[in-house]
Amino acid sequence: MSVYDPKSAKAEEFICHDEILDTLAYAEANKNNAALIDEILEKARLRKGLSHREAAVLLDCSLEDKNQEIFKLAEQIKKDFYGNRIVLFAPLYLSNYCVNGCLYCPYHAKNKHIARKKMTQDEIRREVIALQDMGHKRLAIEAGEDPVNNPIEYILESIKTIYSIKHKNGAIRRVNVNIAATTVENYRKLHEAGIGTYILFQETYNKESYEKLHPTGPKHDYAYHTEAMDRAMEGGIDDVGLGVLYGLESYRYEFVGQLMHAEHLEAVHGVGPHTISVPRIRHADDIDPDAFDNGIDDDTFAKIVACIRIAVPYTGMIVSTRESQKSRERVLHLGISQISGGSKTSVGGYAVPEKEEENSAQFDVSDNRTLDEVIYWLMSMGYIPSFCTACYREGRTGDRFMELCKSKQIQNCCHPNALLTLKEYLTDYASEKTKELGAAMIQAELGNIPKEKVRELVVKHLSEIEEGKRDFRF
Ligand code: SF4
Ligand code: SF4
Repeated sequence: MSVYDPKSAKAEEFICHDEILDTLAYAEANKNNAALIDEILEKARLRKGLSHREAAVLLDCSLEDKNQEIFKLAEQIKKDFYGNRIVLFAPLYLSNYCVNGCLYCPYHAKNKHIARKKMTQDEIRREVIALQDMGHKRLAIEAGEDPVNNPIEYILESIKTIYSIKHKNGAIRRVNVNIAATTVENYRKLHEAGIGTYILFQETYNKESYEKLHPTGPKHDYAYHTEAMDRAMEGGIDDVGLGVLYGLESYRYEFVGQLMHAEHLEAVHGVGPHTISVPRIRHADDIDPDAFDNGIDDDTFAKIVACIRIAVPYTGMIVSTRESQKSRERVLHLGISQISGGSKTSVGGYAVPEKEEENSAQFDVSDNRTLDEVIYWLMSMGYIPSFCTACYREGRTGDRFMELCKSKQIQNCCHPNALLTLKEYLTDYASEKTKELGAAMIQAELGNIPKEKVRELVVKHLSEIEEGKRDFRF
């Protein structure tokens, strides 16, 4: 029997299987324990987060009135830390060559009928111009694991290309990177290349399932994959993004494993995950989601989002276009702070849409709307779409960022930055309809800036944007 040790460097000790099983049994035994649930909710109201055990009880809670309280509290925490802002980003797939055998992903090495593509630097340039012309400022680049086709040098060169392109008023100001687990040395190179967040999905925390789902390739090594964030942090990257693929294993197991991972990062590096993504398995070439028996329904999905929001209030939460408009609408107010919009999950496809027979997509997109439609939709629900990338560019990363976040001072930056970047979007890229709604929103939101001096500066910058200046930030 292994013992849970969040400070351990070993994957099997900081993600302790026995502790997860104990936690699940404890949660099951207490799912109707109103007194305990009240106690946990009381602690959660302090907005300092919960332990994996406490959060697991909330996730399992089957008392209707307490569940309502859980959702209400998640909503309130979301408002307190993230206000009504939603940050936008787009994925950019560089290459789908991959040597791994992941059973849930169409890029697995044995899939012979998917189109294999790797973009040249010229193609990347063309894609980035298309993304800039949509209005994007923040990208998440993705690539399969393939030391021959996608070596670290290729990734670094691509990052350099992306940052170098200044088309019209466009610029990609933050490149987040989602590539396979690698060495400290390579993480150091990524850090030096100026990446934002390093994202690596665990897929599943259950070692036995993990090994079955990754039968071949370097990703088969559970410990190497699970300890990747520690190596990334050792390499100087202090913003890391976690995620599991819901549907592969029992969601209760994954939920606890993920929170243990967050506890581990906090215990060892003094800073928890920057973001947590909540992807659910989707249909794709060669992949049938029904082949996995742990799929979760929309109610469970909403509960997971709410409980993560309560358990780690300072961690941003991401939902992608894997989710439909309806499903995204449901979870936005419960804790999501970042969404993708106008996404393509193929290699390329932004500049020139992919032909059907050339399908290179990692999964089918559920939300196919354009970025402008997504922006309009967000504003019509009262959310401020934000293209802000200020923190990492101002050196507010890692523990510096977390301190500001915990004291809620970050709000004094996020809100004005959201208005300024929205103004840039409206001026440069929006349709008339979106422009109109956006102008009214900015006007109304100016009244919600508490400090007069900040408000005056925002008003000044808003008119400077109209005069052609760009990139103001707090
Ligand atoms: S999930 Fe990643 S590592 Fe696995 S097959 Fe797909 S691209 Fe390759
Ligand atoms: S100010 Fe920082 S935390 Fe706030 S939206 Fe911008 S980058 Fe994110």
